[in-house]
Amino acid sequence: MSAPLLEIAGLSAGYGEVPVLSGVGLVIQPGEIVTLVGSNGAGKTTLLRAVSRVIAGRGTLRFDGHDLLTHTPEQVFGLGLVQVPEGRQLFDKMSVEDNLKMGAYRRKDEAGIARSFERVYELFPRMKERRTQIAGSLSGGEQQMCAIARALMAAPKLLAVDEMSLGLAPVVVDQLLAVLAEIRKQGVTVLLVEQDVFAAFTVADRGYVMETGRIVREGAISVLSNDPEVQKAYLGVQ
Ligand code: ATP
Repeated sequence: MSAPLLEIAGLSAGYGEVPVLSGVGLVIQPGEIVTLVGSNGAGKTTLLRAVSRVIAGRGTLRFDGHDLLTHTPEQVFGLGLVQVPEGRQLFDKMSVEDNLKMGAYRRKDEAGIARSFERVYELFPRMKERRTQIAGSLSGGEQQMCAIARALMAAPKLLAVDEMSLGLAPVVVDQLLAVLAEIRKQGVTVLLVEQDVFAAFTVADRGYVMETGRIVREGAISVLSNDPEVQKAYLGVQ
């Protein structure tokens, strides 16, 4: 097996004196779609914050051969670990196209940036149609498309999407899941952090279940989705 793209082991992190994560382990191989699921407050976003170095953590955090603990959030982004944050956090008053340009702000390769624009407009024809529209006036689903498109403009190796489905209609969620599958085909590894376990399981290869800051289950989706505890707690099976 090749070296993992992301390797997290024995990770502890929290806010000030309040511990949230304890002894978390999670590995992502290049080309995988991995999902991290768990209910509200389980610590999923905290894990993403620790990985992107926005909050401090202890343990092993390696990405693409680099020790993330010696990196700033800006440097982590520069290594190609790019997040689509919960709540999208678009530049509301800027156009779709200017939001996308912001995603590429660290890049200097004009030809590569032009290719990325073409690629994201192919993935999201709606964003091409709406490219001059102010991002704050897009629908919720369009805003999520714009946030994913902006992250792709950074040419990520790993795209980490937090709560992609939150507040969106099932038909829009399905479209976005199809886009994630396509993105993976184009060579981008994906970490999908979701409360909507059913949706996440339709697209992921493997999954991790988090409860109160710990990983309590992990495995192939075919195994997790047949696990009676997972079915009962997250898939609505009695
Ligand atoms: P959700 O899906 O609701 O975002 P989550 O699994 O992502 O849930 P986290 O946001 O990581 O959960 O929260 C985990 C715990 O950390 C919760 O108890 C939460 O109250 C706490 N927490 C989150 N952000 C902060 C913060 N900035 N300061 C203090 N505690 C926080």
